[in-house]
Amino acid sequence: MSDEKSDSPMILQWRGIKEKYKNEVLFFRLGDFYEMFESDAVEVSRLLNLTLTHRAGCPMCGVPYHASKIYIARLLRLGKKVVICEQIGEVGQGKGLAERKVVEIITPGTAVETEYLEGYKANFLAALCIYKGQAAFAYIDVSTSVFEATSWPASKMAEYFSKELNRSGPRELLLPNSLRNNDVIKETLLQNGTISVSYYPDWDFSYETSFNKLTQKFNTKNLKAFGLEENACEVVPAGFLLDYLEKTANVNLLHVKSIKIYSDSDFLIMDNSSRKNLEITENMRDGTSSFTLLECVNFAQTAMGFRLLKSYLQFPLTQLERIFERQEKITKFYDNRTLLAKIRGDLKSILDIERLTSRIAMDKAHPKDLQALRQSLASWDLIKTYLRDYDFSFIDDSASKKICSLIESSILDDPSTSLTDGGIIKSGWSEELDHWHEININFNDVLSKYEEEERQSTGISTLKIKYTNAFGYFIEVSKGKLSSVPQHFIMRRALVNGDRYTTEKLQSLEKELNDSSTKILELERDLFVEVRTELHEYIDYLLQIAQEVADTDVSSALAYAAIENNWIRPELEDSTVFEVTEGRHPVVEKYLNVGDFVPNDSSLSSEDDDSPSFDLITGPNMAGKSTYLRQNALIALLAQTGSYVPASKARIGLVDRIFCRVGASDNLAKGESTFLVEMTETANILNAATRKSLVIMDEVGRGTSTEDGLAIARAVSEYLLDSVKCRTLFATHYHELSRMNHPSLRMLCMDVREENGTVVFLRKVKDGVTENSYGIHVARLAGVPSVVIERASEILSYIQSLANENPLQIDKMPPAEKEDEKEEKIPVSPGLFSDEEIIISEILSCDLDNMTPMLALQTISRWRKALSGQ
Ligand code: ADP
Repeated sequence: MSDEKSDSPMILQWRGIKEKYKNEVLFFRLGDFYEMFESDAVEVSRLLNLTLTHRAGCPMCGVPYHASKIYIARLLRLGKKVVICEQIGEVGQGKGLAERKVVEIITPGTAVETEYLEGYKANFLAALCIYKGQAAFAYIDVSTSVFEATSWPASKMAEYFSKELNRSGPRELLLPNSLRNNDVIKETLLQNGTISVSYYPDWDFSYETSFNKLTQKFNTKNLKAFGLEENACEVVPAGFLLDYLEKTANVNLLHVKSIKIYSDSDFLIMDNSSRKNLEITENMRDGTSSFTLLECVNFAQTAMGFRLLKSYLQFPLTQLERIFERQEKITKFYDNRTLLAKIRGDLKSILDIERLTSRIAMDKAHPKDLQALRQSLASWDLIKTYLRDYDFSFIDDSASKKICSLIESSILDDPSTSLTDGGIIKSGWSEELDHWHEININFNDVLSKYEEEERQSTGISTLKIKYTNAFGYFIEVSKGKLSSVPQHFIMRRALVNGDRYTTEKLQSLEKELNDSSTKILELERDLFVEVRTELHEYIDYLLQIAQEVADTDVSSALAYAAIENNWIRPELEDSTVFEVTEGRHPVVEKYLNVGDFVPNDSSLSSEDDDSPSFDLITGPNMAGKSTYLRQNALIALLAQTGSYVPASKARIGLVDRIFCRVGASDNLAKGESTFLVEMTETANILNAATRKSLVIMDEVGRGTSTEDGLAIARAVSEYLLDSVKCRTLFATHYHELSRMNHPSLRMLCMDVREENGTVVFLRKVKDGVTENSYGIHVARLAGVPSVVIERASEILSYIQSLANENPLQIDKMPPAEKEDEKEEKIPVSPGLFSDEEIIISEILSCDLDNMTPMLALQTISRWRKALSGQ
């Protein structure tokens, strides 16, 4: 960049270090600043809006040392890695260069300082690789010790990777070089912009090295206890993560004691798009948690509880016993409102024990952290005394008292957050420290005592110990008494009025004073580290306590949500029924006035072929179809998290997968055809749904021509009815679909009342089919000019007059096996409009964005036939 000759030794030093950290931002300590140079400076000044300056042609920018954490936190959030390079030793006196050394590497997924973490979010570092045909994915949060891994067939990368990535939401991802050009991975990462991604040589992802790393870490011979059989692919990324943490971030992982291997069958499965469509933890509009299911249950009082609550929603259960267990706890709080209010109030005073513990394990905790831990443990002990009266059981808490008393007797009540500034240790904890403190604080007393001693021994009653900046301490003896000066007085200076002396004792007292200040700081730090290290033996215990707190917090939060939102406890069973009485959509209801939401029932079953497993719902736009569909999916999901649900009664057979396909519209910007996305998702549903699944389909086939769309919607319905036979809610604007007939199919529609030419949406689901789509009514509501509305009504009446002509020729479709052939072909009546008029209006209304070239050709061919009268 700049001319080598004009480069200062410092820039050369910087380059030497930067050479090793090409992909990181190098924070280079220069006095009170961290400076960045060259490309780092250009990039960071742009990212953080800092002023870019130049020195000898070299771009540079800097941040003040004392405020650096704010800037580092912002860089981490942007997915950057930061390397801290400190000045070691003294700056050369006028010449020479201070020695500098990299002391810390902070990456988005390994950061542990509170300033770099979001309390309510896990901070995962993840790794993905392929081993023996399986894709293996592992992630770890060193700030909480959560360490998990899963795998899937490498051929199913598209489906699984985005799902797992979305579910865990890592901040940093490590990949082998060979996956750098994998299209599926590239595409998925593109959609998850802020993850920091790095690539490593493939040989770093080795089974043997990883296996050794893990067994060494967990101190076991093999990994069977964690469900990892020989050659289990999850071993590879998991071991790689540990290696990376040790080598790169240099963190102590004392608190990571095990790894949890999970597979899809442990949880209710939802693919990524279903998860997004249902707006469980993030809404589709701006990705925040407003207007989501999470917002309806977000009553956790602690950060630990909040993280757990979110994972409940991300991993709903599929084992009845575990669901009952959670329900039972919620019910205890639900039934005891006074207890609930009390607990919720008290939980607020519990800080993030999980992260405090991890910080202790990693030797990163500061004195205030220990006091925060003590105070949180004390609050939890108190809460437990109430809870025990209600039959809650907890692990033995004798260790808690030991920890509290250790911290209480050693650490000041309001200590410093720094280890080097003193203000940490209580008096009475260390005799040595007290001694130095005494010297420091009582130095004046010590001096007066010594002064008195010398007066007595010398008989010079006017002798005085004095201090000046230039001399330090000295003994002053007036002229008249000089003859009484004893041997051990050492002459320092003769003055007109008297002489100044020192003694060995005075010199040693003075040295003690100077030493004591430094000594106190050093000793306080050492004593603190001793206490912190003593706490290492309680790491496991503390993490269990954190789990108990989180668990209690979530149970009470869900009880509170149930009361606030008027939810009930659902009955869960191992069957395929889905019976909901007066179900509601939790989010839509929350934003309406009380009582305005219209509840609706559902009843589906895949038990036998004669009960409906498939509801086909018709109704105009805005009638409430989507809301009805989603509310049922959300009720199933909530029920399997163990939560109460928005209904007056619910009986739900365990669902293994929820699929939610809703009108495609949002992927255009990413360059994919909407219709292709819609069909990919549909294919996924048809391939993966089982009899225990719940399928929600809203307007399938919308992204193509009417004929195509209708044909696809019908074929998909038939497949779900005949082959998959799962519980399905299928909303459509194709009224023609309602001509299907099947013993497991029921027609439902959204009730609409027409009054004096206006339409009222009653939002009530009833049996039957809506024939009218009221589109013109909606157009009027939207403010379309009245001339257009009138003309549309005119055209509509014409089309309706041809209603039975069935322009889509559904009756010409080959009947499905169980098709009731009741439809009759009615001859085409001569129309009000000429063929030319109809074709011109068709040309004008063509949806060119969604038309494939093939479809365009077919359409033109149809027009030509019509015009040529064939
Ligand atoms: P559709 O899918 O039929 O076009 P939506 O489900 O999107 O209709 O519903 C349109 C609007 O109607 C929603 O935004 C909501 O405000 C309201 N709504 C839907 N269902 C209900 C209901 N059961 N009770 C009250 N309002 C509802």
